[in-house]
Order: sequence, then structure tokens, then C-alpha cells
Amino acid sequence: MEKITKIQAIKKIILNNGGIADWSTIYTQIENYYPRAKISADWKEGLRGVLYRDKEIVKYSTGVFGLKNKQTWIIPCNIKKYDIEAAFCDNHTIDWTQNKSLLNLSIGDIIYIYVGGQIRNIPYKCEALEVNVKNQIDDTQFMLDRNFFEGDKNYFRIKLIKKMNTPDLSFEKLKANGLNGNCQGPQTIKNNLLKYIEEKAEICDEQLLLTNNEKHELCKISEEELEYYCNMSDLKSGYKETESLSRIRLVDKRIVEKLKNLYKGQCQLCGACVGLEFGENIVEAHHLEYFSISQNNDSSNIIIVCPNCHRIIHKCNFKFDREQMLFCNKTGQEIKITNPGHLKK
Ligand SMILES: [Zn+2]
Ligand SMILES: [Zn+2]
Repeated sequence: MEKITKIQAIKKIILNNGGIADWSTIYTQIENYYPRAKISADWKEGLRGVLYRDKEIVKYSTGVFGLKNKQTWIIPCNIKKYDIEAAFCDNHTIDWTQNKSLLNLSIGDIIYIYVGGQIRNIPYKCEALEVNVKNQIDDTQFMLDRNFFEGDKNYFRIKLIKKMNTPDLSFEKLKANGLNGNCQGPQTIKNNLLKYIEEKAEICDEQLLLTNNEKHELCKISEEELEYYCNMSDLKSGYKETESLSRIRLVDKRIVEKLKNLYKGQCQLCGACVGLEFGENIVEAHHLEYFSISQNNDSSNIIIVCPNCHRIIHKCNFKFDREQMLFCNKTGQEIKITNPGHLKK
């Protein structure tokens, strides 16, 4: 018999029992796969320990376990038939038709949605939340071609994890990295292509997709206040943060953190490293195109500046001139960028 580990043995038991097993099944069958399983006195604790630590095992109910058979899919969306962008703007969860080619899909699966037509890219990373959805979300307003959806019976629910916009996930790049066919139907992905997509999705900036409510709320906040929120690592108690603001802050913070670390506390404008002598990195992020207007939180829209430069930018109404790579205001004053870094063209 091939040598396997304790956890592999438990997984075999689960698989060979139709994908589900309780403790008594595991206890009685473990020696078939792992002969030395019961050698030590606390063998039960040993089994429990490895099982609870394993991320691929899911608990169905008390003492009943299954395998998280996480698959990754690419599913195409025809935006002439379904306005997915608007649908995700309204609700970050949508119900998708589970036709024959998606019967194997299960809860926890990762779904990359490929948008064809002019876009030919993967803008959305989602997760399957639920299969055989009973109370379906009403999204008929986003169906641009209702006939297309007629007769659909089974739905699964997906949740948007990340909105992306990167040339690395274009059709050509996917093709070059092992994508089969023309992405006309759903497919599971493995090996190199999976590795490639996950890597690119991980490193690309996360785009904000704001619901209409969130956009509405955003209008009521000044740019400085908004940036203040985005720059603060933890809000002091006393600041009441709305749900939308906290989401904006969460997405923005990850990008801002990445950039702050890149410049190691140095201001891209004056070059000073204020605070570093005290062991503090106090640089701040400034949105080149005002975030309250553009809602653009790509790193290409962010510059890392010291608190002094930052105050001056806002106080003297400096606007960024991307062509000349400098800040200027109506008075004709200018601030040059000493370190263009990630903004370099
Ligand atoms: Zn500065
Ligand atoms: Zn600013």
C-alpha cells in the first residue's frame, strides 16, 4: 500500500463514503488507509487535530465532515444580454443560471467572469455562495435580452470578491497561458492557467464598485475628509463610519498601504522622510483625480506625499498635470515631483 499521511487518509475515507463522513466512520475506517492510526493512546485527539487544521475539510454539522472541493471556473458573460456591471452596482450578489455545463459547480468555488465583445477580459472574481437558490434575486432590470433567460430554472448565487482591470487578464494573455477555446461557455481551469490567473488577480489593484447608495453617500463627503478616512489606519472611536465608507476605506487602504511601503516613508514631492527618524511612516495618499469625483482608486491615481506637502496641495488648490508630471494652481505656482516612481510613464 502507498504511504499516505493521516490527513490524506481521512480525506480518502470522506471520498469513499460519498463525500461525507462522521467521526465514527472515520474512527472505524482509518486503519484501512493509515495502519498505524491507533498506535498512540490519544489517537483520537491526533485525528481531530489534523482534521481541524486542514483547510480543505468542511464541517457540515456537528461531527460531520466533507471535502471542500474547490474548483476554479471561467464563466463568460454576454454584456449584450446581461448588464453585469450595473447588476453588481446594485447588489454585490447575483444569481446565475446553473445550466448543464455548470452542474459540477459547488459552494466555495471561485468564478472568474469573462466579458467578451469589446472588453475581452476578466473584470470580476467571484465566489459561489449557494447552489439551488430558492428565493431568487430579482435582476430582470439588468436583462437586456429577456428571451435569452426564458426557461432558466436553476440558479446559483455568486458574490463579487474583486473587481479588476488589468491587461494581464486579456483574452490574448489568457490564450497565451493555456486557455482552451474562445471562452464561449463555462470551463474549469487548472494547472498553469489557474496559477497565472490567480497570480495576476492577486497583484492587480482592486477596483471599487460602488452601489448607487454608496455613490450618493460619497457626494456628501469632502475630498479632504474622504482622504483622511482612507489614510487613517484605525479610526478613533467617536468617528462614526458608515458601511459604505468602511468598504471604500478597506479597498483603498490595501492599495495605499502597498504604495506607502514602496516609498518607505518618503514624500514623492519634496523627497523628505518626515517621521522616519522617530521610526514612524507618516506619509499620506493623495488622489490625483479627486476620488469623490473619479472614484478611481488605481495606484496610478495615487501619489504618496508627506503631511506638509499634502496640506499645501489642498490649501492652495493644486491640480495634477499628468503631461508635465507636476502640480500647478491658478496662481501659476508649481510643485515638481522629485520621485515619480510608480507614476512614471
Ligand atoms: Zn513633501
Ligand atoms: Zn489629498
